[in-house]
Amino acid sequence: GQCVTHCPVGALSERDDVPRMMAALADPDVTTVVQIAPSIRAAWGEDFGMTPKEGTVKRLASVLRHIGFDYIFDTSFSADLTIMEEASEFLHFMGDRPDDNLPLFTSCCPGWVRFAKTEYPELLGHLSTSKSPQQMFGAVTKTWYAEKMGLKPDQIFSVSIMPCIAKKSEADMPSMTREDGTPDVDLVLTTRELDRMIKSEYLDPRSFPESELDDPLGVASGAGVIFGSTGGVMEAALRSAYYFVNDKNTDADTFKAARGQDGCREVDTEINGIPIRGIAVNGLGNARHLIEDLKAGRRQCDFVEVMACPGGCVGGGGQPIHDGEEWAARRAPTLYNLDERNTIRFSHENPSIKEVYKEYFGTPLSEKAEAVLHTHHSAAER
Ligand code: SF4
Repeated sequence: GQCVTHCPVGALSERDDVPRMMAALADPDVTTVVQIAPSIRAAWGEDFGMTPKEGTVKRLASVLRHIGFDYIFDTSFSADLTIMEEASEFLHFMGDRPDDNLPLFTSCCPGWVRFAKTEYPELLGHLSTSKSPQQMFGAVTKTWYAEKMGLKPDQIFSVSIMPCIAKKSEADMPSMTREDGTPDVDLVLTTRELDRMIKSEYLDPRSFPESELDDPLGVASGAGVIFGSTGGVMEAALRSAYYFVNDKNTDADTFKAARGQDGCREVDTEINGIPIRGIAVNGLGNARHLIEDLKAGRRQCDFVEVMACPGGCVGGGGQPIHDGEEWAARRAPTLYNLDERNTIRFSHENPSIKEVYKEYFGTPLSEKAEAVLHTHHSAAER
């Protein structure tokens, strides 16, 4: 299948998690929450012949509610949280740059993190310690949100809908589990598994109206939504890094050079008079070329976003398949349109993000934020 040829962790076999999911939904003592990754809204409707305008995340919310999920949330919310932490981490990194002059790398793509652990373990200290949006979502759900709801963490069954099976192994990693050994994300469904589940319930998604996602973990900025496309993480992070330094926003499209489908794209900018070069790379072959150039001093930059799949998560190996065709380039515009139409285009302006910092974390990189939202990367854990 596509996973074998396109998924960078194709060595993992696809396992069907739908039966476990249905058992959790049938358990009256369990509160089920589901997070929908940014890239899913650009692809899930394809298996039902829907256009992007029909197969919206709001229609998917209605379908998931009908299937029995208690709360429908958005991974784009926690993508905003990842940006708050990662943009702050980047500014610290720039202020205390390691002598080797190598950049800070994103770490939200588990396909890339696994590759780095295997091929470039010497770079692990340069990977952002900010957890991925999937894992931040899981961690926040079983801490802040559980407290708010008066629930114990083990009364929550946390499901995510993701574009690849690499997200299943990420959720299973010991470093992503709670102190008692239980996971922050209990179960991961790929887009294809989601679509199979909808079909197995004999549902026609087109007959469902759109409905809002739930508060507060269903509120996201446009910056959180573009995470699903190559370049989106870097663009979103630069928007907030600019704000953190200047205490005012730049135009949301300032860093749009990060967009596009080329394997490697550069954004040259400056923050507070300091020149910054970011590079967004997709595909592990392109990542290898870039790393070799950086290590040899042939290229220099400050921040690198790596996505293992062609086009980023919109082109993930768990997304619907179309006879071997790549659909990433068709799906990315859906996310950029959503960003453009969103009244909130900066992660730091998301009201739910303001709420979670006010009520729980204080500031980015606080002791509590470090404990709940950050991780370490060890070559021993793959
Ligand atoms: Fe998964 Fe996205 Fe990374 Fe592909 S780019 S492996 S879909 S996280």
